[in-house]
Amino acid sequence: MNAERESHAVRVLLVDDDEDDYVLTRDLLTESRRTRFEIEWISSFDRAVEAIRRNGFDVCLVDYRLGESDGLELLRRAREWGCRKPIIVMTGHGDSEIDVAAMRAGAADYLVKGQVDSQVLERSIRYSLEQARTLAALRESEERYALSARGANDGLWVWDLDRDHVYYSPRWKSMLGYEEGDIGSSPAEWFSRVHPDDAELLQTAIGMHRDGLTPHLEMEHRMQCSDGSYRWVLTRGIAVRDADGTPSRIAGSQTDITERKLAVERLTHDAFHDALTQLPNRALFMDRLGRALEVARRHPRSGYSVLVLDLDRFKVINDSLGHTFGDHLLVAVAERLREVVRSSDTVARLGGDEFAVLLNDVRDATDALRMAQRIHEHLGVSFRIGEHEVFTTVSIGIALSATGYERPEDVLRDADIAMYRAKQAGKSRHEVFDKTMHERAVNLLQMETDLRRALDRDELRLHYQPIVDLRDGRVVGFEALVRWQRGSEMIGAADIVPLAEETGLILPIGQWVLRKALAQVQHWRGMEMHVNLSPRQFLQANLVQQIEDALEETGADPQTLHLEVTESVLIDNPHAAASLLGKLRDARIRLSLDDFGTGYSSLSTLQQFPFDTLKIDRGFVSVDGQGRRALEIVRAIGNLARILRMDVTVEGVESLEQVEKMRELGLDYAQGYFFAPPLPAADVTELIARGARFA
Ligand code: C2E
Ligand code: MG
Ligand code: MG
Repeated sequence: MNAERESHAVRVLLVDDDEDDYVLTRDLLTESRRTRFEIEWISSFDRAVEAIRRNGFDVCLVDYRLGESDGLELLRRAREWGCRKPIIVMTGHGDSEIDVAAMRAGAADYLVKGQVDSQVLERSIRYSLEQARTLAALRESEERYALSARGANDGLWVWDLDRDHVYYSPRWKSMLGYEEGDIGSSPAEWFSRVHPDDAELLQTAIGMHRDGLTPHLEMEHRMQCSDGSYRWVLTRGIAVRDADGTPSRIAGSQTDITERKLAVERLTHDAFHDALTQLPNRALFMDRLGRALEVARRHPRSGYSVLVLDLDRFKVINDSLGHTFGDHLLVAVAERLREVVRSSDTVARLGGDEFAVLLNDVRDATDALRMAQRIHEHLGVSFRIGEHEVFTTVSIGIALSATGYERPEDVLRDADIAMYRAKQAGKSRHEVFDKTMHERAVNLLQMETDLRRALDRDELRLHYQPIVDLRDGRVVGFEALVRWQRGSEMIGAADIVPLAEETGLILPIGQWVLRKALAQVQHWRGMEMHVNLSPRQFLQANLVQQIEDALEETGADPQTLHLEVTESVLIDNPHAAASLLGKLRDARIRLSLDDFGTGYSSLSTLQQFPFDTLKIDRGFVSVDGQGRRALEIVRAIGNLARILRMDVTVEGVESLEQVEKMRELGLDYAQGYFFAPPLPAADVTELIARGARFA
């Protein structure tokens, strides 16, 4: 033993339930001049169990008798948990049976208390420690053997530390593309080929294992091959130590893990990138945005901004030119976006035709606006895909760090809201998010929730606007218009219908309107009832059945029912529309084309669809600067309708002057505030009672 070791105290765990015995043993230990002992006394079995588990000792002296239990039991348990520290059993009286049992259970020695003096005890401890070390070295050498025997694919190396000489196996060399004679036996042959970024870590790992701080060496690093390329390897090793723990050699293996490493890299890449465009995906974008928030928190001067982009009319392109074409376009757009931003910024595909850009280090809103402008310009140049040349525009919503966000989701939400605003404002635009937008969005959401309940709570109402025969002022029927009694507020159709359309609530609401209107018209004999159908309602597969059910339930005559649809349903789905209109016709239900003149107003499509009535939008009736031209259009529409044998109703008549003009043009019916606004049912009943006629 060297001097340094002797100066180290040996930590003794002394387990004895008899205090007098403990004092005796302690005195024997402290008497020793050769070794310094540090003693921890434990007097109960249970606490001894804990102490052994803690493993903070070098040798354990345990009394055979321990209250209910005994020292052998403790010994057995310690071995079961894998404790390899030497344990010496002591008894009060010599007993050869206990002696044998102790050895079998793995005791390092067996001592009889009265027969030991300080020297004997000290020597027993020293020998036990030596023996444990030898056993440990043996185990390590067995492990090393197992290591080297594993797979011929691994390269082997044995580093003789005393001579500073390394044996590299042929496989170790060929793994890196070298012949047997190419590589000598110095450690430098190895370390000079380790990737510079990994070199320090590898040296540290080796150093730690050499000093006994780690049970074995294990590290993944890159090695340079003979052709200059790098391969990933796993280096494992274990030191062979002398009895006093000083390492003499380290032996180990080198495994080529390049394929696995690349596969893992690919998987990680795939998890954070969009497969189509190879751009970062939403998850990675949110991660980077989270970091930008963190930076902004620490350095309030340097801001970030987020632009959310949505392609305008992408669905049309996708549907008309096919999904493959759509995919090519998305890839091309991604490419252009990448060109526009700086390398420190992030472009991501959030999904579908939605992209996002994170600008780091922006000073103020103008930076973001300038970027939006550049994106519009860059994407404004046509795309050539296959034999097609297409144009696409984007709507952009912008959120700025100045708002003081705490969560990345909130930034994205606001940029999204601003993007929808930009879309509504007419596409190919950008909008910067502001607080009022957020409030509007929150209100809308609340309204949606409330509207869902409005039906159950019986909060919906119908108002009825008279339709008047222009020749004699007689009321021929009514248009049912939905209203929502929300607390004290009466909400109009213009605020209900678009929201209901978007959320799908229009379907149950539409059913309610139809039944309510048909039930009502039963009380107003001889009157027509006009009911509006929005595009989503019109496209229901079982629409005809639904209407027939409602007619039957209410007992209403099909001929009193007029359905009003707008041109958009004809344009978007001409075939479905034609077949549906035919079926409704067969069911003797009459049809009006609503708001004519506001949409595509293709006069030729009129001939393809069997409408009974054409309703001219109020925009043509209002007398403003365009009055004369508008009037000419109304005259032309009137003439066309006569040729096609359709009736014409004008909407939004507000003055006597307008009524007279419409009469002059020979139009059939009119509707408008001049006669009456939409009225509650009770008022209509009164109107009918008075004769239902406007002079
Ligand atoms: P619409 O079918 O064109 O209905 C006529 C709209 O013009 C009504 O607005 C009516 O109040 C308004 N109006 C009538 N006369 C005048 C006038 O002289 N001057 C002006 N400025 N406006 C007049 P409302 O009730 O707000 O309805 C708006 C639209 O909502 C309707 O346009 C219709 O497309 C839709 N809608 C209303 N009720 C329902 C419904 O129950 N179901 C469906 N699907 N849509 C409905
Ligand atoms: Mg209408
Ligand atoms: Mg209308």
